[in-house]
Amino acid sequence: MATAAARTMEPPCEITLENLFHTPEGRRVLTCLQCGACVATCPYGEQMDYPPRRIIALLRAGLVEKVFTNDSLLACVACYACKAKCPRQIDLTGVLLPLAKEQVLARHPELPAELQKALENKLRYGNPMGESPRKRAAWTATAGVPIRQLPTDPRPVDVLWFVECYCSFYPRGQDNARATARVMHALGVDFAILGNEEKCAGECGRLTWEPGLFDTLMDYNMTVFSKYKFNRIVTSCPHAYDAFKIRYPIVGFNYALEHTTPYVARHLEKLRPLLKRRLDYTVTYQDSCCLGRHNNFYDEPRALLTAIPGVKLVDMTHNRVNSICCGGGGGGMWLDTYYKTKGYERLSERRVKEAVATGADVLAVSCDYEISRFEDALKVLGHDKKMVVRDVMELLAESLEVQP
Ligand code: SF4
Ligand code: SF4
Repeated sequence: MATAAARTMEPPCEITLENLFHTPEGRRVLTCLQCGACVATCPYGEQMDYPPRRIIALLRAGLVEKVFTNDSLLACVACYACKAKCPRQIDLTGVLLPLAKEQVLARHPELPAELQKALENKLRYGNPMGESPRKRAAWTATAGVPIRQLPTDPRPVDVLWFVECYCSFYPRGQDNARATARVMHALGVDFAILGNEEKCAGECGRLTWEPGLFDTLMDYNMTVFSKYKFNRIVTSCPHAYDAFKIRYPIVGFNYALEHTTPYVARHLEKLRPLLKRRLDYTVTYQDSCCLGRHNNFYDEPRALLTAIPGVKLVDMTHNRVNSICCGGGGGGMWLDTYYKTKGYERLSERRVKEAVATGADVLAVSCDYEISRFEDALKVLGHDKKMVVRDVMELLAESLEVQP
C-alpha cells in the first residue's frame, strides 16, 4: 500500500487552494465564463452566499478569504448538478467545493452537532450511526440465503460485496441488503462480504470537511482488501462506488468495481426468467446524483424495473441529468436540523412532491441514503399512504418466484 508521503505526490490529493492554479484542474477553473449556470442549477443556490461562480470570481481577484467568512457553503450537498451543467466542465463538486469547505471548517470549527457526531462515529466505530462494529453483519442472520463472510471463510471469491453502513445498520437498509443477497443468490453469484471487518468507505468525509478522516478510512479498507482474493468489488452504495473509483486508486486500488444496480443489470437476461411474480405497481425512479449524474447509469435501473412483470415506469419532471438531489450528499444526511433552523426546504421533501405528482405508488431508488430520506419526507408531508419507497433490489427480490 502507498504511504501517506507517496499519496501527497499524486493528483488530485495534492491540490490545495494555494497551488490550485498550477494544476490542470485549477487551470480549468481559470476558464470560467462567469455564466452563472452553476448557480442557476444548484438546488440551494439561493441559500449560498458564495456559490461556485462567486468563489471563482473571488479566487481570481485574490479575495477568496471572503468565501470563508461564513458557513453558508454547508448548504452544498455535493449533488454534481453544477459540474454537470458547467460549459467549461470544471470539477466544481469534486475539487473546488471540497477545498473551499475545508477552509470554511478551519475558520468555523463549530460544526452542527449532528454532522460532528456522524463524523466522530465514522472515525471511532467505522459507521456514522455509532453502532458497534460487531453488529455490522447481524442482518445476514435473517437474509434467508447463505452469506459467506471472508473473516471466517477466507477462500477466494468472485465478488466481494461491499455492503456499506446504511445497508448494514439502518433497518430499512438491511431490508435492501437482504433483498440484494437474494437477487445475487438467485443469479448464482459467488459472493462474500467483509462482515465485521468492513468500515465506511468515507466518501462523505471527503466531500464535507474531513479529508483526514477519509484518508484514515481509505487506508483501513485498503489493508482489509489486501487480505483476500477476489475478482471484483460490487457495492450497494454509490458514494462508496465514487470513493473507490476516484480516490482509492491514489493508494493503489485497482480492483474491478461495480455498483449493485448496473452489476445486476449486466446479468438481466439471466435474471429475467426468474422474475415471475407480477407486481402491478406504477413506479417512478430517483436518479441518484452519484450513480446518475456522476456516473451515467441512467438506463440500467430502468431496464431492471421494466423487466419486472406488471411494473409501469413513469418519469418525474426532473429526471436523469436534471434529477433533484435527495439532500443527503456532502454531509446533508446529518444536516437536517441545521437546514431546518435556517428555514431551508429539505430537498427530500421537494423531491417527493414531484414523485407523488406522477401518480406512481412506488418511488424506486438505487442509493442507500435515499430510503431513509424519502420515507421520512413522505411521512412529514402526509404522503406515506400514497407512496412507498423501495430499492430496485427490493422490487427485484419481491418479483422472484421463490421467497424465503
Ligand atoms: S457554470 Fe462553469 S463557467 Fe459558468 S459560472 Fe459556473 S463555474 Fe463558471
Ligand atoms: S454540488 Fe450541488 S449543491 Fe453543491 S454547489 Fe454544486 S449544484 Fe450546488
